[in-house]
Amino acid sequence: MPADTLLAVSLTRSDPPLPEQVRAAIAGGADIVELRADCIDDADAVEQLLNALREIPYIVTVRSAAEGGSWKGDEGERLALIERLAALSPDYLDIEWKSGFNPPAGEYKLILSHHDFSGMPNDLDAVFDQMCVLKPDVVKAVFTARDALDSCRVLEQLRRRGRSRPLVALAMGEAGLLTRVLAKKFGAFLTFASPWPGAESAPGQPTIGDLRKVYRWDRIAEQTRVFGVAGWPVSHSLGPRVHNAAMEAEGVDGVYLPLPVEPTYERLAALLDYISDNAWLDFAGLSVTIPHKQNAARWLQGRGKPVSDMARRCGAVNTLVRTSDGWLGENTDAGGAVDALETAPELANGALDGKTVDILGAGGAARAVAAALLERGCQVTIFNRDRRRAADLASQLGCASAPWDKRAAGSGDVLINCTSVGMTPDVGASPVPESRLAPSTVVFDTIYNPARTKLLASAAARGCTIVSGVEMFVGQAARQFTLWHGRSAPLRVLRRAIDGS
Ligand code: NAP
Repeated sequence: MPADTLLAVSLTRSDPPLPEQVRAAIAGGADIVELRADCIDDADAVEQLLNALREIPYIVTVRSAAEGGSWKGDEGERLALIERLAALSPDYLDIEWKSGFNPPAGEYKLILSHHDFSGMPNDLDAVFDQMCVLKPDVVKAVFTARDALDSCRVLEQLRRRGRSRPLVALAMGEAGLLTRVLAKKFGAFLTFASPWPGAESAPGQPTIGDLRKVYRWDRIAEQTRVFGVAGWPVSHSLGPRVHNAAMEAEGVDGVYLPLPVEPTYERLAALLDYISDNAWLDFAGLSVTIPHKQNAARWLQGRGKPVSDMARRCGAVNTLVRTSDGWLGENTDAGGAVDALETAPELANGALDGKTVDILGAGGAARAVAAALLERGCQVTIFNRDRRRAADLASQLGCASAPWDKRAAGSGDVLINCTSVGMTPDVGASPVPESRLAPSTVVFDTIYNPARTKLLASAAARGCTIVSGVEMFVGQAARQFTLWHGRSAPLRVLRRAIDGS
């Protein structure tokens, strides 16, 4: 059984001086340092470090350009540098499997490595079998993940082989983060992190700070349950910061990860089938975001799995909860919108019931908000740029619709923006003229980025009560937390995580 997974920081620059970088890596929590001599571009500095500062184990790597490295000289010069550094007894020496290079003399352990920047083969077994049979001290194989499903396949190799021999199995790219964080859960020899943003030695590598603070590296263990957000793209999602901070505050043994899933029903279905069939992955709950909310509802329906009444009315699932016999689909956007509206004093304690509400937009958010408000007896009118879409949604839900160019004449007690007008980077835009903003109107913008949109700033200036999309985000995330962990969410922690992002 291998020891705990090591946290390796890769150093790729000669400035600041290497000893300074090594000490910073140690202070930041690194267990081992990789000296990427191909990128550092100063062999003397690497040699001096190996001779003078041995406070932490080192991996020496002179990566060839063919395997994604920065080596600019010819192959003979590269091998000569490897031999020179090997003679200084680094703790580990990395040599590419495909280079066919015989390990040089020296006291070190050999990491036999393979890097595929083009993707990953269907037969991952063949690669690992051929490398393992050579019996190096450590086998390291790194591929490029299209999306989260590819990363799960890499983790399968780690799970099957990683506890019986020192193994590194990682995926590069944004979708590979899953393999880098869960390396510890499945007993990898190490995972790599960069010392600071922009100093990554491979695409998709997190900083050591994010790995430890956002992704809870120090807490991850074999039994840690896995959560995540499936969408495309998901790199901007606040979910990881918010849910990991909430689990940390509540002492929940879990980790929440971004899960990029290519934007087709088939690819989401393949991922959900895979994580259902492979219970060892320990996926216990998922958030689902654009463009997969309808796809998730379709997958549940096709597999005969239950969907809540609200998710059915919304026609969209934003939350999957693992149950003893599969998955349950829920929509927490709807309840989150109500939670947000009820933070307005005029709408608290049941006062929301029966109010007249004008909704701008007819997409996924509008559908969830309208469905929730109709359940509360509100009289809802939908205004949308695409008139037909507004009429379709209104007839499906049983409410009114009106032309987009009549939105300034609306007189609902509550005005809700469910369009993307005013969202970053379009922060100077507002979906309605100021004349619509009578002081008695409660104005709710579902946009949470920025927290205070042009619409909300104008409404506040005219004396309206305003509600930010941040409140809806907090509300929907809090409901997810309760569904997954069976307890109330720490609302202050959720808000702080959003503010700090
Ligand atoms: P969606 O399904 O793509 O719908 C987008 C809506 O915006 C459509 O009604 C579209 O009108 C309208 N729209 C886009 N550009 C417009 C423009 N220039 N002028 C007028 N209307 C325009 O997206 P969604 O999922 O509903 O998301 C909409 C907003 O809700 C986003 O800003 C998102 O951040 C927010 N949201 C917030 C939360 C939260 O937790 N706070 C949760 C979900 C969504 P057409 O039909 O005419 O194209």
